Amino acid sequence: MANLIAALDQGTTSSRTIIFTPSGDIVAMAQQDYPQIYPQPDWVEHSPQNILDSQLDTFKKALKQAKVGASDIACIGICNQRETTVIWERQSGKAVANAIVWQDKRTAPAIAALSDDQRKIIHQKTGLVADAYFSASKIRWLLDHHNLQARAEQGELCFGTIDSWLLFNLTNGDVHATDVSNASRTMLWNIHNHQWDDYLLTLFNIPTAMLPSVKASNSHFGDYQLDGTSIPIHSVIGDQQAATFGQACLTPGQSKLTYGTGCFLLSPTEQTVASSRGLLTTIGWQIDQQPPVSAVEGSVFIGGAVLQWLRDGLGIIQHASESQAMAESVPDSNGVMFVPAFAGLGTPYWDSQARGMMIGLTRSTSKAHIVRAALEAIAYQCTEVVDAMRTDGAQVNELRVDGGASANGFLLQQQADLLGIPILRPKQTESTALGAAWMAALGKGLIKIDDINQYWQAKQTFEPQISRDEAGERMRQWQRAVSRAKEWVK
Ligand code: ADP
Repeated sequence: MANLIAALDQGTTSSRTIIFTPSGDIVAMAQQDYPQIYPQPDWVEHSPQNILDSQLDTFKKALKQAKVGASDIACIGICNQRETTVIWERQSGKAVANAIVWQDKRTAPAIAALSDDQRKIIHQKTGLVADAYFSASKIRWLLDHHNLQARAEQGELCFGTIDSWLLFNLTNGDVHATDVSNASRTMLWNIHNHQWDDYLLTLFNIPTAMLPSVKASNSHFGDYQLDGTSIPIHSVIGDQQAATFGQACLTPGQSKLTYGTGCFLLSPTEQTVASSRGLLTTIGWQIDQQPPVSAVEGSVFIGGAVLQWLRDGLGIIQHASESQAMAESVPDSNGVMFVPAFAGLGTPYWDSQARGMMIGLTRSTSKAHIVRAALEAIAYQCTEVVDAMRTDGAQVNELRVDGGASANGFLLQQQADLLGIPILRPKQTESTALGAAWMAALGKGLIKIDDINQYWQAKQTFEPQISRDEAGERMRQWQRAVSRAKEWVK
């Protein structure tokens, strides 16, 4: 009997397929990068066809690597880069233009033109801070610049985030749907009544006829026909929410922190009140007909990316993995503070005018001090996100970590020291794909929700080793540095 799960993990720079057993062991994995398209400064696009082709290629490669066929796959789960916007023709299935990627800032002027009242209403209804990052203004831009409003109103066009685009294609145009976690990133979804919001649709003049239907995350979304086998697609979930589920952070008080290019902290929450500290409220997932689970989300724009800059920009390291030994070769950063606000600051500052800065340099500053300060900066920024959650009343008792930079033990020890809580690195660090796989397995009935708590295992725990006074003193020093980097560009 088929008992493997294929997670299609469609990310910002690559498409991946990971084949899992129900308990979360990896059987095979295939990955393919695809082109990033930068037509103008601040614009980022993907070809929807590239996304689809690379995703299907990795699926076939993963099957081959696992030496299994379509009939061995019990179900498919989809997790995806969020907010990225595609519009396609319902009839032909052809995309009308390239996808506008979440990082794309072309619609910032449209967002800046919103009134304070409109921003407040957006925040209250969607849990999001009004921003060009989310899908709403990207849909508006595509409709305007490709002259599509009338066709959209007549129902000739479909809007979707990447999950919907994949789903439509995998089901041969049968299914135009998404799940609640992805819907909550469009800035058009009301997180209180769990519906597309009429006020927001009117505000952005987006026709209802182009919207996908919205389902629970473990629904039977449709079937993918491969080699004469019909494989049920049994989950759709945004990547950060999937990672939270894959880390078995299922209840309030449990949080996951992904150290990738940027850092994202998510924690399930019972309250859906808008944060006063710059955190987003979002939908984590929905299982069956149960009420959707809300989550708070904090974001750090530059996380592991600071190591990429030390490597590619300054050339003071060859590989990100060297950074741990370099940082540990010195007892401290010798007074150096590095604020990597290359693209402004996210939670809790949301300061787009802040810029990167190193302060405290002397003639005795070495490369190792700078590398150490860069890793410490990742930990300082994430500490501020957790502090924001605590100020909002959330409990954060431990942190489960994943993402490329979670390989760095020095970073995780710093994080434990600054936060004063244990940092847990799991056995399976492919949390995003695992979350989508478990969500699908749940939908298909291969596992039960309680099994996830058993399957998830910590491999290593980092315990705090400094006093709370010392941690407080270090955070105050960090904040002094941040205050000098804020509101720098005019
Ligand atoms: P994303 O999914 O955002 O592309 P990944 O989770 O693949 O990111 O992580 C990649 C990031 O992790 C890169 O920015 C890289 O610099 C960083 N990274 C990888 N290995 C290490 C390491 N050992 N120490 C610190 N950072 C690392």
